[in-house]
Amino acid sequence: MIIRRLVKKNIRMIKPYQATELECRVKLDANESPYGFGEALAAAEGIETNRYPDPEAGELRKTLAGMWGVRESNILHGNGSDELIYYLVAVFGGPVMYPRPTFSMYGIIAGIMNEEAAGVPLGKGFQLNTGRMVKEIREKKPRLIFLSSPNNPTGNCFERDSIIKLIKAGKGIVVVDEAYQPFSSQQSFVKLIKEYPRLVVMRTLSKVGLAALRSGFIVAQKDIIDEVNKARLPFNVNSLSQAVAMQALGNRRKFQDFVNAVVEERHLLFDSLDRLEGVQPFPTDANFILFRVNNAEKVYKMLLARGVLVRNVSDAVKGCLRVTVGRPEENRIFVNELSKILKRV
Ligand code: PMP
Repeated sequence: MIIRRLVKKNIRMIKPYQATELECRVKLDANESPYGFGEALAAAEGIETNRYPDPEAGELRKTLAGMWGVRESNILHGNGSDELIYYLVAVFGGPVMYPRPTFSMYGIIAGIMNEEAAGVPLGKGFQLNTGRMVKEIREKKPRLIFLSSPNNPTGNCFERDSIIKLIKAGKGIVVVDEAYQPFSSQQSFVKLIKEYPRLVVMRTLSKVGLAALRSGFIVAQKDIIDEVNKARLPFNVNSLSQAVAMQALGNRRKFQDFVNAVVEERHLLFDSLDRLEGVQPFPTDANFILFRVNNAEKVYKMLLARGVLVRNVSDAVKGCLRVTVGRPEENRIFVNELSKILKRV
């Protein structure tokens, strides 16, 4: 174990993010869209493979700036939003605060960067425990707060007023991670960057049909973008991703149709789960549903044995699994298998 001894102490203690490929017939574990943009791959044809990509992802940022009603200088591109979390922690440092449970990468990246991380338990209905968070903000003075809204893995949006209270409570950067916002009834925080100079909104194309591209963004006032940009690796988003994303974004209608189809299916899936005895689905604003069952670990394994892959989040939320909304046929197979399993556990 000589190598392990060479590794920095904070890295030795890190439990890596679980992203394993498991054989399955129905893949509902990673909050991907069931619908892709295969035809946009044609845009890759014109690429000169010997040339580096546009380091600024200029066209892509310009298109998104138009969509979000901000300037290009308010947007920074990442190789997925994961990379931008890295940059944010590298640039602003810790303490890093977030509610718990939430997306695990905030804590993992804080750990990799050897920054203090503070997870504050969520309150009733998986809402922010605003009083407690304000208290902790005053005590710990976090330089960065991550709020995933809708939250992964609980699925709910945090109340708008609570988020604003937290922005006002401290002096650090508050990141509202809107990875699942397209599926939500809550308005985006993007418009508020003008009003709140320490607000960062994080977005991704991963949940709306372009996960393969690894393309995420932060939106914030220019001075924040310029600082975070210092940590960015020179050609972080490759030419293929930029070209295919541009092509796909040319068809805004299609994005909306896909999102609408997922939201519609989500309602049906929620009702099916709600009707099953022994299953408690939690209300969701995302493209996945958190649900509680007796013996989650066993149910997870039995689903997998039948070719249905969901996410076991029982470490984070007791007795719970998380299922991504798939195509109608996939959701039907999942509900069918689950109902058969429930009779046996
Ligand atoms: N934020 C949240 C809340 C997520 O759930 C995820 C993906 N699991 C990400 C960010 C990362 O997305 P990306 O693919 O853009 O890195």
